[in-house]
Amino acid sequence: MILHIDMDAFFASVEQAINPRLKGKPLIVGTRERKLHTVVCAASYEAKALGIGSGMSSEEAFKICPDLNFVPAEQSKYIWTSGRILELIKGYGFETVYVSIDEFQIDVGDQGQSPNGGCPSYAVALAEDIRSKIHKNFNITASVGIAKNCLLAKLASKLNKPNGVAVLTEANLAEILAKTPVEKLCGVGEKTAEIFHDLGIKTCLDLYAKTPKFLERNLGKNGLNLYASLHSEESLEPADDDPDPKSVGHSYTLPRSTENPGFIRAWIRLLADMVGERLRQQGLAAATTHLWLNGPKIGNFGAQKTFPEATNDGCEIFRRVLVNMSKLGPQTPKTRALGVTCSSFTHTRYLPLFDQQKSRESLLEAVDRINDRYGDGSIYPAAITLTREMP
Ligand SMILES: [Mg+2]
Repeated sequence: MILHIDMDAFFASVEQAINPRLKGKPLIVGTRERKLHTVVCAASYEAKALGIGSGMSSEEAFKICPDLNFVPAEQSKYIWTSGRILELIKGYGFETVYVSIDEFQIDVGDQGQSPNGGCPSYAVALAEDIRSKIHKNFNITASVGIAKNCLLAKLASKLNKPNGVAVLTEANLAEILAKTPVEKLCGVGEKTAEIFHDLGIKTCLDLYAKTPKFLERNLGKNGLNLYASLHSEESLEPADDDPDPKSVGHSYTLPRSTENPGFIRAWIRLLADMVGERLRQQGLAAATTHLWLNGPKIGNFGAQKTFPEATNDGCEIFRRVLVNMSKLGPQTPKTRALGVTCSSFTHTRYLPLFDQQKSRESLLEAVDRINDRYGDGSIYPAAITLTREMP
């Protein structure tokens, strides 16, 4: 059995935990400091109850509720809390996967399964214990979904949100899936939902009941993957402690050494983009980025850093590589060859947290489709044009 543990309104809850004055009040967390000129990236449940949600402009949110409380997002707080929660969950000793900044999965094996397909009381007791520890330690609430695989466990985590537990067993699966619209399933956006509706698939049960053949005929390879994710009973793939960690990287040797920072950055951006594209092709996202530089003065320089959130966005990989590069100091060293490598992979079967990330994902999908159809390099970030002229 898989437990999917999802913090409730995570960023807003962390802010409310830090500042008790905000507890129980409608609160939005904005992506930028300017209260009336930003986008809501998280809303407290009190704000959600008024119809305010992430992705909305803050101006619109204040129109709905003029007394709304506002806090600009401060990533470091959420990343810190997320890391401590992950430690707490790992402490239970099960295979643990970091899904996103506020979602984690553990595999409790057969211990969670009851032979008659009824309620797996062990898994439920464990979920309650984890939830109460999270509440005690961080003063925020979490919801847990329990099911035979990751996709169904994630779906289950939404069913009794906030602050609840839901279990999908063979005994209640059909009944619950029949009541759940297919849009609730992770990875089913507006477009996919439309396709499903045209195929007569309205509820998760309609989808669950389809044969792999039907899904392949109508959705291609994605349909087959979806079937596998819905029906699998496989255990979690270990994310850490892989004896042979795989990586994806690209490197390039310049025609001659240069210390032109714009040119070097353009090359790093290009390599980061190539790595991002390869990760997306393989359905992977990576938490660790590594930069390698070679030059007459620095010899071989390497720096790597692991970030809490995995990515396959070339632009984000580029930003992370620059963090590694900052270890060299403000001056760009004379460089002859350079490489960008990513590792610590997770699978990208989960939708991102925020609408901004969702639109970023659709953008990347569109870029990949154009390059697939018209050839590599048909569309690329303007920053890369510099790589075509050696200064
Ligand atoms: Mg959450």
